[in-house]
Amino acid sequence: MNATVGVWLDPGMASFPDKWDDGTDLGSPSYQVHWYDERTAIIRQALHTNFEGPFLYLLLGSERALLLDTGTGHIDLRAIADDLLAERDLSLVVAHTHGHGDHIGGDAQFSDRPDTVVVGTSQADVASYFQLADWPEQPGEYDLGGRVLDVIPIPGHQGSDVAFYDRASRLLLTGDSLYPGRLYVPDWTSYRASMRRLADFVADGNAPDWVLGAHIEMTDQPGQDYAMGADVHPGEHQLQLDPAVLTELADALAEAGPEPQHLRRDHFIVVPR
Ligand SMILES: [Zn+2]
Ligand SMILES: [Zn+2]
Repeated sequence: MNATVGVWLDPGMASFPDKWDDGTDLGSPSYQVHWYDERTAIIRQALHTNFEGPFLYLLLGSERALLLDTGTGHIDLRAIADDLLAERDLSLVVAHTHGHGDHIGGDAQFSDRPDTVVVGTSQADVASYFQLADWPEQPGEYDLGGRVLDVIPIPGHQGSDVAFYDRASRLLLTGDSLYPGRLYVPDWTSYRASMRRLADFVADGNAPDWVLGAHIEMTDQPGQDYAMGADVHPGEHQLQLDPAVLTELADALAEAGPEPQHLRRDHFIVVPR
């Protein structure tokens, strides 16, 4: 593992890159960092380091920083985080959108980091740390210092899945439960209920600007995905989804009924497992 220097983009005012480096070129950096705003960094693990190529999020509050997911463990995320947090007097909390290996693979890199908490990955660990009573019915609140996140349990894809709504940036982070790609659903009943609850949360006076997931597996052509583990990603779908897509997903799941169904829509594909 080496601390490859990635592509650093200028901090922007709430902006996405016009085009992400998909990182399929072996000669490209092992990661890309984009500052969405001055306190929100989006880190993309290059696809050449692992076919999952997940997106990770670093949110800075006035007291602590939250790193959401640690990727597959194939990049030196510790060095990246240390760089991004340098000269900021913040403790670090490492938490996860869910407990799959491509989202927790770098956890061990943080085990000896000073002033750092690595939240466990079981449902009980997550519920305990974020004080989520009555899982999965009740959202919780988590304060980074002047930056409150709503933590919303959304099991169905894995089991300890949570969405984070950042009231400051108005970003809704959905992990593998909603992103432009194949949404794998082992627990259909829980997933249907979770996406409805999340859609209701948004309808209930919360107004995210964007929904951000953890992967891009679709092209910019409606309903078209890449083959699993594709070597190249020409014409990628953008990372950010309009919140209306969450409503579309919840409605599609409701319409599909209690029996698992394969659903292909413009911006997501639901794949029962
Ligand atoms: Zn997953
Ligand atoms: Zn994943």
